[in-house]
Amino acid sequence: MSKTLFEKIIDREIPADIIFEDELSIVIKDISPQAPTHLLIIPKKVIPKLSDSTAEDQSILGHLMLVAGQIADQLGLDETFRLVVNNGAKAGQSVFHLHLHLLSGRPLNWPPG
Ligand code: 5GP
Repeated sequence: MSKTLFEKIIDREIPADIIFEDELSIVIKDISPQAPTHLLIIPKKVIPKLSDSTAEDQSILGHLMLVAGQIADQLGLDETFRLVVNNGAKAGQSVFHLHLHLLSGRPLNWPPG
């Protein structure tokens, strides 16, 4: 199977601004930021979309959330940020390798579009 875009970034085949990396995850800057801070928190395991995850992925999913909070803290985002998961093309997903968007630095309206 061909690699996902994010696997190519993880494998350093495509450049990216890498903010953080550990054994389970990588955090990069989004190439097309929708807010002053727009990061992607990506598991190294390829799960195409959130609804494909299983109980086996519980610790990975929890890890991504913890990393999000830690990175927000380290970047001094004043505990003000939004996490988004687009699940499926109709919900705006364009890269089919699960990722959390972390958005901050501007007013975040509710409900999102
Ligand atoms: P999705 O639309 O799947 O929820 O989010 C995919 C995100 O990946 C988009 O926000 C898009 O801007 C970002 N993206 C697409 N290609 C690249 C790339 O080559 N590098 C980086 N850093 N982000 C990318």
